[in-house]
Amino acid sequence: MRNFPSSSFHALRVHLSIFIVAFLAAALLFLASSSLAEEHKEGAHVPQNPNSVDSALKALKDGNSRFASGQATNPRSGKDLMAKLARDGQTPLAAVLSCSDSRAPVEKIFDQGIGDLFVIRAAGAVPGVDQVGSLEYAVAHLGVPIILVLAHTKCGAVTASVTGAHEPGALGELLAKLNPVAKAVESLQESSRLEAAIKMSASMFREQLTMVSPTINEAVKAGRLKVISGVYDIDTGVVAFNE
Ligand SMILES: [Zn+2]
Repeated sequence: MRNFPSSSFHALRVHLSIFIVAFLAAALLFLASSSLAEEHKEGAHVPQNPNSVDSALKALKDGNSRFASGQATNPRSGKDLMAKLARDGQTPLAAVLSCSDSRAPVEKIFDQGIGDLFVIRAAGAVPGVDQVGSLEYAVAHLGVPIILVLAHTKCGAVTASVTGAHEPGALGELLAKLNPVAKAVESLQESSRLEAAIKMSASMFREQLTMVSPTINEAVKAGRLKVISGVYDIDTGVVAFNE
């Protein structure tokens, strides 16, 4: 095998080194630019939701008025709409965190249809980690302009908390999230404790959402989202909004 003269061998090594350095630099530049492009895409990505804070709030209020006055229109249903939503995706006008109580059916309460509301439910409308995660999805990926935390009268979960009921297992953990409310109403007359606690629970959970979730907090600060609370009266059908 022919030996390279030492000077040409040295030159070949230099060339090779330059080639490797240039290749690595180009690769790094490519990676940096594509990750910047990715970041830019993320930063610029605001979900296209045609509903605004004002229009969504109006839709909820008008819908509840229709429902409570017995003039519900049961809008937006049927096969054609289902097919359209399946094809084009959803742009709900609000995310609602409500109690699981069967007397508080969210779409009916607001006279809304398929694709209108992104509903998350848990006894007492308690925002555990899964509920907050679901709300973050609605904000970050569906662009909902409203989050409504909806408590209701005669709520079993709040009643259990206020009366100091002890429940085993996961239910006990859920009820523990209502402890601050139960404590806050202790000094009130017994007859008014439950009503006060229900109202307070919705306000407290609403506040908690912006405290525990940077996604929700940033959307509120950017003016893209409003977080409100309300109490649904299961006797009259009326929602008392607290904006
Ligand atoms: Zn309830």
